Amino acid sequence: MIKKNFSLKNHNTLGVVVQANDCFFAHDLYSLQRVLHVYSKKKVQVIGSGSNILFTKNITGLLIKMHIKGIYVLKKQAGYVYLKVGAGVLWHDLVCFCLYRNYGGIENLILIPGTVGAAPIQNIGAYGVSLSDTMVALTAIHIESGRLKIFSKAACDFGYRQSFFKKNQSQYIITDVTFRLTLPIKHQLHTQYGIIQHTLNQMSLQNPTIQSVGNAIMHIRKTKLPDPQKIGNVGSFFQNPMVSQKKYRRLKKKNPNLIAYAIDAQHVKLSAAWLIEACGWKKKVVNKVGLYDKHALVLVNHGGATGKSIKAFAQTIQEDVKKKMTVDLKFEVNIW
Ligand SMILES: Cc1cc2nc3c(=O)[nH]c(=O)nc-3n(C[C@H](O)[C@H](O)[C@H](O)COP(=O)(O)OP(=O)(O)OC[C@H]3O[C@@H](n4cnc5c(N)ncnc54)[C@H](O)[C@@H]3O)c2cc1C
Repeated sequence: MIKKNFSLKNHNTLGVVVQANDCFFAHDLYSLQRVLHVYSKKKVQVIGSGSNILFTKNITGLLIKMHIKGIYVLKKQAGYVYLKVGAGVLWHDLVCFCLYRNYGGIENLILIPGTVGAAPIQNIGAYGVSLSDTMVALTAIHIESGRLKIFSKAACDFGYRQSFFKKNQSQYIITDVTFRLTLPIKHQLHTQYGIIQHTLNQMSLQNPTIQSVGNAIMHIRKTKLPDPQKIGNVGSFFQNPMVSQKKYRRLKKKNPNLIAYAIDAQHVKLSAAWLIEACGWKKKVVNKVGLYDKHALVLVNHGGATGKSIKAFAQTIQEDVKKKMTVDLKFEVNIW
């Protein structure tokens, strides 16, 4: 059933007030294909939980809200388990399901908001692990033709917060994602981040398991990031910018405290949070928009901010960082 003039206030984690003229809750593949056929002349957009979208205006075309559920064990083979997961399953629920059954590989991605179907869009990642490490394939509907297509991992063209789908928005709707996860014999912990080691030690977990790594990361995230239920945000608003070694050396000379991570022989990733703080933005609030006090990469809605004012605030930061640091900050969030 199509819901008319549907309010999206509680369907985006920034808490922005907008509405969709026509909103369809997709609970199964068949009804989704039917509605796409009926609405073939309209612009179609899809959302999961709205935890990575900044709405700046009402949605006038057809909005699909993904609710296709189900977690299916396809097979267990050679120390691995293959799971096929509906696009509308909540990502955190999938991680908990896996930890409960002792399936490893996504525990570092615990507590990331959003749906499984949206996770490939920006190749979600945290604490040294990305979705692309365990995803093997996905199914998507081509919006224009209504045809189903299976994408291999290679066809998804994943990169840092990038994928084929992010580059080609509004062409496909992902309906399910298949993962290859480890059974205990193949478990491999990703605890290379100092903060994970430190937290495991603090929790007196000397022989960590995938469950204890999950718990440690949940603890870290709860102390570092604002809970969208309490304060509107979309996590990191900007990407950490990648620059050449040459540019990095020039910047470091001028800013000895600059935080950066080596990527390869030619490239360095700069801390966007450091750049923003260094430009003096940490405590500024404009039109009820500001930065989270514990993490300058997170823009927050202090209550009642509009999508347009959030975008304007972010653009002013972009311009200022460009002017003072000569670095381009790209949005991680999708602006609609
Ligand atoms: C507090 C907080 C912390 C976060 N931490 C992280 C983090 O650590 N790492 C990280 O990578 N991200 C993080 N995020 C961002 C966000 O959680 C992810 O990007 C998540 O995958 C978005 O899921 P969603 O269902 O909310 O997608 P939405 O915000 O609804 O949509 C995001 C984009 O995906 C598209 N999309 C959604 N579903 C589908 C589908 N089924 N088919 C095709 N396109 C689709 C939408 O059209 C849109 O372009 C965080 C966000 C918050 C609020």
